[in-house]
Amino acid sequence: MAHPGQFVAIFGGAVSGAEAAAQLSRRGIHSVVFDQNALPYGKIEDGLPKWHVRLRNREIARIDEKLSSPLVHFVPGLRLGRDIPFSEIVDNWGFSAILLAIGAWKDRPLPVAGIDAFVGKNFHYQNPFMYWFNHKHEANYSGPQFEIRDNAIVIGGGLASLDVVKVLMIESVQKALAARGISANMFELDRSIARVLEKHKLSLKELGIQGPTLYYRRRVKDMPLSPFPPDTPQKLEKAEMVREKIIDNFQKKYLFNIKPLHAATDMIVENGELKGLVFQQTELKNGKAVLIPGTDHVHRSEMIISSIGSIPEHIDGIPLEGQVLKIENKETCQLEGYPHVFAIGNAVTGRGNIEESARHGRDISQAVVHEYLTNREEMYEESFRTTENGVQKRIASLADKLQTHPKLPAEKMTLLMDRIKMLQRQAGYDGNYAKWVKNHLPQRLEDMIGYGH
Ligand SMILES: Cc1cc2nc3c(=O)[nH]c(=O)nc-3n(C[C@H](O)[C@H](O)[C@H](O)COP(=O)(O)OP(=O)(O)OC[C@H]3O[C@@H](n4cnc5c(N)ncnc54)[C@H](O)[C@@H]3O)c2cc1C
Repeated sequence: MAHPGQFVAIFGGAVSGAEAAAQLSRRGIHSVVFDQNALPYGKIEDGLPKWHVRLRNREIARIDEKLSSPLVHFVPGLRLGRDIPFSEIVDNWGFSAILLAIGAWKDRPLPVAGIDAFVGKNFHYQNPFMYWFNHKHEANYSGPQFEIRDNAIVIGGGLASLDVVKVLMIESVQKALAARGISANMFELDRSIARVLEKHKLSLKELGIQGPTLYYRRRVKDMPLSPFPPDTPQKLEKAEMVREKIIDNFQKKYLFNIKPLHAATDMIVENGELKGLVFQQTELKNGKAVLIPGTDHVHRSEMIISSIGSIPEHIDGIPLEGQVLKIENKETCQLEGYPHVFAIGNAVTGRGNIEESARHGRDISQAVVHEYLTNREEMYEESFRTTENGVQKRIASLADKLQTHPKLPAEKMTLLMDRIKMLQRQAGYDGNYAKWVKNHLPQRLEDMIGYGH
C-alpha cells in the first residue's frame, strides 16, 4: 500500500542506510539517502580490507540494488553536521522521520595519557590506517600516508586488529622480498605469507623482519572475533575453542607475535618523539582484566597502532551519552529529545548487532568453524547480515508508526523533492545512480595486477 505522503531522510547509505531505504521503498515510502562520500559504501569500501574482493563486490552490488529503487533518492557528498546542520534538518525540512545510519568512524581513544599528541607521528589509529591500505594504489590517491616500520605494536583484539596486523606483515614481507628481486603480490600474501616464504625458501629472520606484536588485555580465547556472543556455557566453550583455533591458524599463516593478558599503561617519549609503550600484565577477576603491579615492561617501537574499536563521530546538536549516541528508547533506537529521529546500524555502536545476534541465538556449527578457519570472510559477511536484520526490524516498527502519522501535503512533498534535486545538482549528480557509480568507482588493485594467481 503506497504512502505518497511520507518522506524519510536517511544519513549514511551503506549496509544500514541502504537497507532502510529498501525497506521503506517496499512499503511505498519515499526516502532520500545522503552520504558524505561520493559512493555510499561505508565500511565495505574503506574498512573491509581490499583482499576481500568477492565479498566487497557482492556487498556493493546489494547496496546498489537497494539504492536504485525509484522511491529512493540519493544525494552524494553531503555530510550532516558540515554541509547541513542537524538542527536545520530537524527543524526546517519537515521530513516524516530522520534515520542516522552514519556508522562508527571515530576511533575509540587509547587510554594512555597524552598519547593523542603523537597521532600521525609514530602513533596511529586503525580507521585512517585501513583507509590508506585500501586506497593507496589508486593513481589519484591523496589521503593520509603511512610508512610501515618493523616491530610495530598493535593494540586490539577484535577482527579489525587482526586486519591491521596482517596489513603490517603483508607490507613488510612484500618490501623485503622486493629488495631481493622477488615479486609477491598482495593476493598471494593474503592467502598465506608462510607459504610464500616456503616457496622462496626464506624465513622472516633471513628477511630481517621481527613482525608486529598484537597486545590484547584478555586471553586469546576471550577475543571478540565472531558476531555471535555466546549465551550458554556450551556455546561459550565452543566459541573459546573457535577463537583459539582462529588465532593459531592466523599466526601460522601470517607469522606475527601476540601477547595476550597485557595492557598499555604509559608511553616512552624521548626528545619529543614517541619511542614505545609501557605494558603491564593483567589477570582476569570477575571477567575484568586487572593490572598486576610490578609487571611493567617496555616495548620500544616507532609504529604503534590502536585498534580498540570505533564510535560514531560527533555531530553538533546530536545528543551523546559518554561517547555514544544518547538513545531514549532502546527498542526503536529513538534519539533522546527527538521523537522522529532514530539511529540504526553501527551508529548504535554495534550494540544493536550484538543484541540481535543474541536473540537469533546463532549456534557456531562445525561447518562455520571450518569456514572461520579457512576463510574469515564469513565472519564479516555474517556481521553485515546481522546489521541488515536489525535494520529490517526497526524499519518495520517505524513504518507501522508512520501509518498513523498525518500524511505530508502534496505541496510539501513537492517542496522536499525540489530541495533534494537542488542538492543533487550541486553535487553534480543527475539522478542516474548506475552512471554515477561507474564514474566514481575507485581504481581496483585486482584490475591493475590481476587476482587469480
Ligand atoms: C573492519 C571492520 C570492522 C567491523 N567492526 C564491527 C563492529 O565492531 N561492530 C559491528 O557491529 N560490526 C562491525 N563490522 C561490521 C560492519 O561494519 C557492519 O555490519 C556494517 O558494515 C555497518 O554498516 P553501517 O551502514 O551501519 O555503517 P558504515 O558502513 O560505517 O556506513 C556509514 C555510512 O554513513 C556515511 N556517513 C558517516 N557520517 C556521515 C555524515 N555525517 N553525513 C552523511 N553521511 C555520513 C559514511 O560515508 C558511510 O557510507 C565491521 C566491519 C569491518 C569491515
